[in-house]
Amino acid sequence: MNAIIISIGDELTSGLTIDSNAAWLGRQLAELGISCPLQLTIGDNQSAIVAAISQSVTQCDILLISGGLGPTEDDLTRGSVAEAIGEPLVTDQVAMGELEAFFRRINRTMTENNRLQAMRPISASCVKNSCGTAPGIMARLGKTQIFVMPGVPKEMKAMFELSYKPLLQAAAGGVVRRTMALNSCGAGESWIGARIGDLMKRGANPAVGTTVHDGIVSVRIYATGKPAEASAMIEEMANTVRHRLGELIFSADQIALETVVVQALMHQDRTVTTAESCTGGMVAMMLTHVPGSSGCFKRGWITYSDESKAIDLGVDPELIKKYGAVSREVAGAMAQQARSRAEAHWAIAVTGNAGPASDDPKNPVGLIFIAIAGPNGGDDIYVRSCQFPGDRQSIRLRSSQMALTLLRLRLLGLDPDAILPV
Ligand code: ATP
Ligand code: MG
Repeated sequence: MNAIIISIGDELTSGLTIDSNAAWLGRQLAELGISCPLQLTIGDNQSAIVAAISQSVTQCDILLISGGLGPTEDDLTRGSVAEAIGEPLVTDQVAMGELEAFFRRINRTMTENNRLQAMRPISASCVKNSCGTAPGIMARLGKTQIFVMPGVPKEMKAMFELSYKPLLQAAAGGVVRRTMALNSCGAGESWIGARIGDLMKRGANPAVGTTVHDGIVSVRIYATGKPAEASAMIEEMANTVRHRLGELIFSADQIALETVVVQALMHQDRTVTTAESCTGGMVAMMLTHVPGSSGCFKRGWITYSDESKAIDLGVDPELIKKYGAVSREVAGAMAQQARSRAEAHWAIAVTGNAGPASDDPKNPVGLIFIAIAGPNGGDDIYVRSCQFPGDRQSIRLRSSQMALTLLRLRLLGLDPDAILPV
């Protein structure tokens, strides 16, 4: 079974409003195991809408349409569906009764335009709108079932959930699509692809793919089948992926990297502090983004200048002079000093060049040193040098994520150099 989604409205084609309806409906269809190879966005233009409906019905079993059911001149969906089917519009008495009752309830006079909203193609039926005035329309053209919904996202979602989803579930014969995302940080998509490429065959069930979002590479698993069967397929494939990628995977689904790190610190009853240069507090921001992080994070430093590294953290100015602020030695000293001044178990330090320019060939844009000082004091310090691609913002984000990743691995008692690609 396959579906096409059409979103209607000038505000969508002109870029004023982002078409969130299609994205939401696409996710719903995916969960129902219904493929959706095509989504269309069309302005308030009747001939374009009619043409799109007429073409779409030759290619799909289900056509989902949202928008343009309102009472104004530019709401053309009702008429367009009627024209595509080749039927006149008639008044639906039940829908008209509900509209009249709605206006009586809110003590307003109903306009002639509102009456248009109770109209439908003669062979179609109206669908109750539980949170607005415009009823939906359910029609059939050839082998295709057409489900029309209002554009207002809240109304569209309610109508889909209450009226259309049960029909689609029944038509899908109890088959669902389950998904799981296994999130990793620290290795590129191609490095991961090389380890799980054989699992990523197109059209396989379960299917495996990767997506990258802000430096996080997620391995996505999709399984279609009866609920228990699909869940079992997901579990089995997730075990295989975890086995291949090991500790590189930090969480499943929506759980953020910083949440995992804070949970690990809390679980071990450990505290962390931060000393940041080029990330300007981003690591601290991510950590404190997690509710309850006050249990493991008390303070941090933003030491952007050489002077503040020396004065606020107590890094030896001679060390900075000798090696430069962007160096393995200074990163290590920043972490060591921060750990001691904050009386924390762990310290993260970041220093590097986030760009956009570099005036020193020894410090190219994207060269970042990250140090993790551990709870054993003294020389319990790990430093990694990274060369990140991208613009200033993405280098800063990638640096912060790498810093959290290094701490996460150290909290697990692991050597990051044995886990992460160099
Ligand atoms: P109603 O019947 O309630 O008047 P409608 O079907 O006429 O709704 P529109 O007038 O097209 O819908 O849109 C109503 C509101 O919903 C607008 O604010 C519009 O930006 C928003 N909207 C419409 N379609 C979408 C969409 N695809 N994604 C996100 N928002 C949308
Ligand atoms: Mg509109």
